[in-house]
Amino acid sequence: MAELKTYTIAAEALREFVGTIFRKVGCNDTEAKAIAWFLVSANLTGHDSHGVIRVTRYVADVRLGHTVPNQSMTIVSETETHAVVEGNHGFGQTIGPQAVDLGIAKAKKAGLSVVALRHSAHIGRIGDWGERAAAAGLVSIHFVNVENSLLVAPFGGRARRFATNPICIGIPPLDGRPMLLADLATSIVAEGKVMVAANGGKPVPEGALIGPDGKLSADPEVLYGDARPFSARNGIGAIRAFGEHKGSALAFMCEILGGLFTGGGTAGPEQKGSARVSNGMLSIYLDPNHFGASDLARKAMEYADYVKSSPTAAGIEEVLVPGEPEARNRVTRTAQGIPLQLDTWNGICALARELQVPIPA
Ligand code: NAD
Repeated sequence: MAELKTYTIAAEALREFVGTIFRKVGCNDTEAKAIAWFLVSANLTGHDSHGVIRVTRYVADVRLGHTVPNQSMTIVSETETHAVVEGNHGFGQTIGPQAVDLGIAKAKKAGLSVVALRHSAHIGRIGDWGERAAAAGLVSIHFVNVENSLLVAPFGGRARRFATNPICIGIPPLDGRPMLLADLATSIVAEGKVMVAANGGKPVPEGALIGPDGKLSADPEVLYGDARPFSARNGIGAIRAFGEHKGSALAFMCEILGGLFTGGGTAGPEQKGSARVSNGMLSIYLDPNHFGASDLARKAMEYADYVKSSPTAAGIEEVLVPGEPEARNRVTRTAQGIPLQLDTWNGICALARELQVPIPA
């Protein structure tokens, strides 16, 4: 395989650069910093699909009026233990923390809470929300969909019927150990990973995509077509749901919970017409103390150690638990910098030149 060309940049310099770009397109200082913080957080954890590769698309969404800078969530209805929240198509990096903090505050008081968020612009790496709740001592479970973003074929099908619909579960951490966090798309790969592959980055696994003829593929053009910039609206194929029938079942339920239950809407059907996409997220927050599980962090880590003690399968060096790869990437990339595909870096720099934002040396 050809060596992947990358440009490596320190996290702080990248945050500064990206923050300046978003200030130039109308975000206030707090919002610009938050967008930069969360995008770089995704890169630090190794999820380049949800990192600064999104900058050009986010700016395009502002210019199209699909994402509205400087919004706050509004509460549609609430009790002590629940809230329905409207994201007003504000940046997910502003709306996401507001919705999550509301759920945390309610669960801290009542022992549990449920927050149904709709119509937020892209809320990025859902692990950030699981980590935020876990840092506050809470277990959290998140079911997410993407309204108007048909990308994924159901098990047995070859046409798009779901979004990439992530599910995330976070467990409060034990001091000094990595946070236990499952955070995964219900498609074989997140769409951003196809974008990374199309930008000359890590290829997607063979068979992650399916063409309209039903042929399995790893070629990003199946999803994006040959027009630039990449838009899944130009492609004719689909990403496949992960885990055969089981992933398809979970993706379906994310549409129902993240889309219909929150009042946002599902990924389909196609004839909706608008190109505006938004995230819906149904989040459940649980305080372990309220359930007699105040020792959960320690016991979960003991169990993680037991899982890790399994003898490895052929060709595998080590058994990992969810959250471990992200924690390791964060340590390495914080120390050594973030490697970006050249296409990603060049795309951000072209936008920066247009906006007269200085490019870091
Ligand atoms: P992925 O395939 O890399 O899976 C990540 C999960 O698997 C993590 O929980 C990780 O800790 C765990 N994991 C990795 N290796 C492991 C191992 N060897 N043993 C045990 N666990 C292991 O991630 P993905 O499905 O490509 O998703 C990437 C990101 O995309 C996620 O952060 C997700 O939230 C995000 N996403 C967001 C949206 C959105 O609309 N906002 C949509 C889709 C995906």
